[in-house]
Amino acid sequence: MALDETHDPALESFVPTPEGTPFTIHNLPFGVFRPGPGFDARVGTRIGDTIVDLSVLEARGLFDGPELAGRDVFSKPRLNEFLALGRPAWREVRLALSRLLRRETPTLRDDESLREGALLPADRCEMLVPAEIGDYTDFYSSRHHATNVGVMFRGPDNALMPNWLHLPVAYHGRASSIVPSGTPIRRPCGRTLPAGTTTPVFGPSGLVDFELEVGFLVGPGTALGELVPVERAEEHIFGLVLVNDWSARDIQKWEYQPLGPFLSKNFATTVSPWVVTLEALEPFRTEGPVQDPQPLDYLRTAGNPSWDLPLTVALRTEKLDQPHVIAQSNFRHLYWNVRQQLAHHTVTGCNLRPGDLMASGTISGPEKHERGCLLELTWRGEEPLQLPGGEERTFLRDGDEVIITGTAARDGLRIGFGPCAGRIVPAAPLPAAS
Ligand code: MN
Repeated sequence: MALDETHDPALESFVPTPEGTPFTIHNLPFGVFRPGPGFDARVGTRIGDTIVDLSVLEARGLFDGPELAGRDVFSKPRLNEFLALGRPAWREVRLALSRLLRRETPTLRDDESLREGALLPADRCEMLVPAEIGDYTDFYSSRHHATNVGVMFRGPDNALMPNWLHLPVAYHGRASSIVPSGTPIRRPCGRTLPAGTTTPVFGPSGLVDFELEVGFLVGPGTALGELVPVERAEEHIFGLVLVNDWSARDIQKWEYQPLGPFLSKNFATTVSPWVVTLEALEPFRTEGPVQDPQPLDYLRTAGNPSWDLPLTVALRTEKLDQPHVIAQSNFRHLYWNVRQQLAHHTVTGCNLRPGDLMASGTISGPEKHERGCLLELTWRGEEPLQLPGGEERTFLRDGDEVIITGTAARDGLRIGFGPCAGRIVPAAPLPAAS
């Protein structure tokens, strides 16, 4: 991938882009929204505080390049049809949008009725999960996170499992409970083994946690039996979303051996509604960590397979007026990169489908303030977080809202996702015995 005219820092839009917005003309993310109650969902992009309804532009014939001409992909309530088209189509639409939204382009700027139909105030729209996600896989690709958790549960000598430096560890997650930012998160009930006892009990989890993650949406799928070479993996990666992989640590601890997490993570996963494309992220490419031992050939990558993408977690309790920043990390800390994750996922011949979600695992950095979950930030609850106003937190209480954001900035460019947020609400009442 190379930089092109859509990355020119001098570009400006006739659509207002407030100072500091992550939704600049250089970003042009994709999402699915409803313009209001009762409307059908459709695909849009966002610039400043405005959502651009791509189904309206498509119906007007404004995407008339060779990849998109005559197609109907943006009137759908999901990105899947667009994802299946692949990078030439994604680039064609990005270029068309960049040109349409520029200050000097009259097509949309001077057409009042088209503007009224296509440009909508973001705060009046409802954002949805951007794709129909058939399968969700969660990796465990941060060395700092895996090491911290390993130290807590197995001691410093056995912190990383013997396989960890050799392959990107993952588990198959639950796709049905993926929800868009803003959806309340109900405290899960489950089985736990209280400390110092030998009899498991049932009830609301007492140790609900967040996990700061970033995922990618799969573009064109593959056939069963087909392997994706690591150097072609990005052809199947559309863009990134922010992910909060909510986790019930007490349920997880009692259930996870030998097959990994199950109910401790299947109750909800929040994603940002806006998908930031690899094209938009191109100016922020970076190497990522040195890998030692060197991975096997099928996982060996060259160039810059990562991005310098700062990530922030803020917590708002019911007593706090403002969200309080509790962690700051960066996507570039990930040890295993997205190309390796995708290549590894298909090395058995496992097929991919457009809209599949693969998430990074908790992204922690080397420093204490870069830890991407409460389990690490409070060291299993032994070091409570001190919040403004004298409150303390070890794990999440009912009413707590967790807000993940990610914004990359460099050389006059600034792009980001907007929030990936969710608030914990009390556990459901238990069903009455019959
Ligand atoms: Mn996770």
